[in-house]
Order: sequence, then C-alpha cells, then structure tokens
Amino acid sequence: MHPELRARFNADFTPEKYATLLHCVNETEKWPADFRISETPVFLTRAFTDDVTRGANAIVDATRTPEFGREAASAVPKPGLFSGGALVAVAFGQLWSETLAWLARLGPGLRLAPWRMLLVEGLHEMPRAKGLVMHADDPLLRVVACTGAPKCPQAFAETREFATALAPHLPPDVRLHVSGCAKGCAHPAAAAITLVGTPDGFDLVRQGNARQAPIMRGIDPAEILAEPGTWVGGRR
Ligand code: SF4
Repeated sequence: MHPELRARFNADFTPEKYATLLHCVNETEKWPADFRISETPVFLTRAFTDDVTRGANAIVDATRTPEFGREAASAVPKPGLFSGGALVAVAFGQLWSETLAWLARLGPGLRLAPWRMLLVEGLHEMPRAKGLVMHADDPLLRVVACTGAPKCPQAFAETREFATALAPHLPPDVRLHVSGCAKGCAHPAAAAITLVGTPDGFDLVRQGNARQAPIMRGIDPAEILAEPGTWVGGRR
C-alpha cells in the first residue's frame, strides 16, 4: 500500500465527489449502481508493483520451457477407463446435443472435465459415437480447428472435416492447428503446423500461430489432401 497516496485520497474525499462519480457511472452504464463503489481503492508502491511484475514474468518464463511443456503434457489425462468411469475426449470441443443426451443416459452421472473431456461415471467400457475420441493415441487429440466455414462468417475455409482428414498423417507429438482465418480463435498459441484459410487457399505457418508470417501462401486444400503426408507429415 502506498501510504502517501492513500492519505491524499482520504483527505480529498467528499460526499459531493462521490455523488459526481456515481452520477457519471449511472449515466454511462446500462444499470444504475445500487452499491457503494470505490470504497477501498488499492494504492500500490512502485517497488511492490515491480516485484509482482518480476514474479509474474518469472512464472511465465518457467511455463515456456520445454521441460515445463513435457511435465504439463504428462499431467493431462488421456481418454480411457478409470475407476470412476470412462473418460472420453470431444473432437474440437464440439458435442452434438444428441450425443450428450445419449452419454447422460449411459451412466449415473456425467462430469465435465477440463481439456475438452467428459467422464461418464460408472462405465466399464468406452462409449463409441461420432465425434468422441476414445483412444489415448488418437491423433485428433493433437488437432485444433476453429468453427470455420460455413458457420463462421469470417472464415475463408471449412476447417473441421479438413483437419479430421489430415489428423491420421500427423507424426507423433506434432500439433496441427487449422484456422478458418488469421484470427486463430481456436489456438492463439504456436503450433508445429498451422494452416490458415485465406481467400486464395491455405497459408502454411511452421512453429507459429495463425497471425505469423507463413512459409507458403495460397495452397489449394485439394492439393494438401492429395498428399497429406507431404504437408503435415513432416516431409516438406
Ligand atoms: S479463426 Fe476466423 S474463421 Fe475461425 S472462428 Fe475465428 S474468426 Fe471464425
């Protein structure tokens, strides 16, 4: 706490100033503020702010190391059978309502898990349905694709069927991101391979995100599908 700023704030406070602030808030926001606001502003010293910033940067740096990546990957469970039931992943995080209803009827409970997974309680075998990923080594677990065309008006390309067709050709440990445009909504981070829809075809980015400079531009999706191993299999 910055004692000098705190004292100055307290000394300057008047009911009239507070009423002006409230009036300003109520004029600009949709709903009137029906509670006291700014009762305890926090004044931080420069030294404290710098300390916190240094600490935050150190944490971010630690999470960007290959060692952290390996540890984090092994901390994420894979689809399979557990004592509590069957853990299934959902391709692209998109689940049809019929599939969700069917899963809910299979066991006594359904739990939403992180990492786009569901735990169907009480099951002793994996449920099978379109869009569910049941095997720990399914390459779809390493594929990210946004909504794409035609559902997203910003998209220049269909994404999920295309990504599904490419998935079996991915080498182990390689992540593929198929984005309908350069916004890269589904995966803002870098991926080993990113294919970005454009008006002229797909742009190819290696070890980067959808906004970064591609190493190739305007590739016809039919050309990629004709030789998927060449484009996503590490042979190019
Ligand atoms: S990345 Fe582009 S195409 Fe994909 S969902 Fe976002 S805006 Fe739509």
